[in-house]
Order: sequence, then structure tokens, then C-alpha cells
Amino acid sequence: MKILVAVKRVVDFNVKVRVKADHTGVDLANVKMSMNPFDEIAVEEAVRLKEKGVATEVVAVTCGVSQCQETLRTALAIGADRGILVETDAELQPLAVAKLLKALVDKEQPQLIILGKQAIDDDANQTGQMLAALADLPQATFASKVEIAGQQATVTREIDGGLETLSLKLPAVVTTDLRLNEPRYVTLPNIMKAKKKPLDTVKPEDLGVDVAPRLKTLKVVEPSKRSAGVIVPDVATLVQKLKNEAKVI
Ligand code: AMP
Repeated sequence: MKILVAVKRVVDFNVKVRVKADHTGVDLANVKMSMNPFDEIAVEEAVRLKEKGVATEVVAVTCGVSQCQETLRTALAIGADRGILVETDAELQPLAVAKLLKALVDKEQPQLIILGKQAIDDDANQTGQMLAALADLPQATFASKVEIAGQQATVTREIDGGLETLSLKLPAVVTTDLRLNEPRYVTLPNIMKAKKKPLDTVKPEDLGVDVAPRLKTLKVVEPSKRSAGVIVPDVATLVQKLKNEAKVI
């Protein structure tokens, strides 16, 4: 069974992003970039399925600028077998990525496609769902457990107030939630090995996909600053302040 995993290069989760002065987006100059954390979980899950003997090949895919190769190398160091970079300098929105992934699904014919539930840069939470629709495949989003038996996947999903378990016929699309697994640390020998693994580069045109943006960002602003708190001497003062100043009780 072949697994296709989508990995996105995003601003590292430790970086405190700054909004550009003209409010068109966030400043990416000299900012550390890493693999989207949910995608690390996706690669880890695919590699574990291979280690269990369920999968035979794990193919990692990324769409974006040439530096996204680094993200693919990380996926290869975790244990993916080969990588595909869909290289473009264009701004990629979720629909464009879903179309590119759909073209690769047609070409590669994987039985399972794993994506992160969302990319932590734009928080869109759309690509997996759009891919499933475009490819006409069943989908299970926010997965916290994935089991494969024959042509069937059983996926436990994290939903409000509990868990839902779905059975899907493969091929299918799964998106990962935080508790699915804890990705392994990438070791130096595996980073070295990853350098020798195959990495193909294609262009959106090769896949016949028009990646032109469909959405226009009007404005990006920082969250408003929290005003400083006050320490109250006792519960009575707290209640009085909540009642008379904050007017919440
Ligand atoms: P989003 O819909 O943008 O929140 O992204 C959800 C998931 O889609 C991510 O966790 C990735 O698995 C995948 N994805 C989004 N953008 C890209 C990209 N440019 N290249 C590869 N995978 C992507």
C-alpha cells in the first residue's frame, strides 16, 4: 500500500510573527521556517504504518518555493521513501494545493493520503477536505487514531465533547489531529540517509493545474494588546469589580 503525505513549509511554531507595516501579511524576512507540526504527525503516522508492514511506500509531497525541499528532506529523515516538490513561486491557496494534490493522487494512485488538519500559518483547515471532494474520496478529519485492515480504514476523530469512530473504504483522505502520535526526533544518521533518497521536482503546469489565487487578503492586523491586570485584596473586591466595573455578573 502506498501512502501520500502532504507537508507544508510554514513559519516555525516558536517564532513570534510580526505583521507587516502595510497590513498585507506577516513578515517572512529572516524568519525560521519548519514543517507544519500537524504534517510531522502525518509523516510519523505513515512511517509507523510502513514499519508495521501495512504500507510499502511513503511518498511526501510539498508545494511551494524551492526551499520547500528542506521540508521534504525532513520528511525523508523521519522515514518517507521519496519526495515530490511541486515547485512554484506563486502564492498558493488551499484550493490550488488541493488541485495539485489531486493531480498527484491521479498519478501516484495512493491508497491513503494523510494531511495535517491545518497549517499553522493561515489556519485554513481546508486542503484535506477540498482534496477529498475533488478526488471523490471518503475523508476522516481530525484523526486521533488510524487503523488499517485490508481495504478498510478505521479512524477515531476528535469531535466536540468526545470521540467519533468512522470506517472508510480505501483509498481515503485522513487529516491528523495533535493526539494521533508523537513524532520521533530526527537523528543525524537519518538526516544523512535522507540526502540520498529520491526527490522529484515538477511544476504546476506539468500537472495541468492553474494555481491562480481565488481569494484576496484585504487586511492582516495583530491581536489587540491585553491591558495590564490588577491584584485584588479579597474575594469581596473581586465580586464588586466584576459587578460594577466589568459588569459581567
Ligand atoms: P490548510 O488547509 O492550509 O490549513 O492545510 C491543511 C493541510 O494541507 C496541511 O497540514 C498540509 O498537510 C496540507 N497542505 C497545505 N498547504 C500545503 C502545501 N503548500 N504543500 C503541501 N501540503 C500542504
